[in-house]
Amino acid sequence: MDCIFCKIVNKEAPSEIIYEDAEAVIFKDIHPKAPVHFLVVPKQHIVSVASDGSERIIGNLIRVVKKIALEKKVGDYKLVFNVGEEAGQTVPHLHLHFLAGGSELKI
Ligand code: 5GP
Ligand code: ZN
Repeated sequence: MDCIFCKIVNKEAPSEIIYEDAEAVIFKDIHPKAPVHFLVVPKQHIVSVASDGSERIIGNLIRVVKKIALEKKVGDYKLVFNVGEEAGQTVPHLHLHFLAGGSELKI
């Protein structure tokens, strides 16, 4: 399957991975939109929040986010899921944006 995030997960494409466990990886976004911009990605290929069975996987992504925020001492942050192309999803492999480090993050 020609999925860039599957390739990153399988180390077939380069990325700056900052966390990895059996179910998820976190790596730096190639085009950061905040001083801190990580992508929290399940190893399993699933398209989006709208996909069947995403709830359990998303719960695990949140668990990983809380752990990494504590580890990196990032107290305040924004979490974003783009769901579908019209909402700005460009990579059809579920991912959670972790953004921090700037007042411009307020919406
Ligand atoms: P989306 O717009 O689908 O919610 O977010 C996709 C994100 O993935 C974008 O912020 C984009 O910069 C990032 N991205 C796309 N391709 C790559 C890549 O090959 N490596 C990394 N590290 N980030 C990528
Ligand atoms: Zn994939």
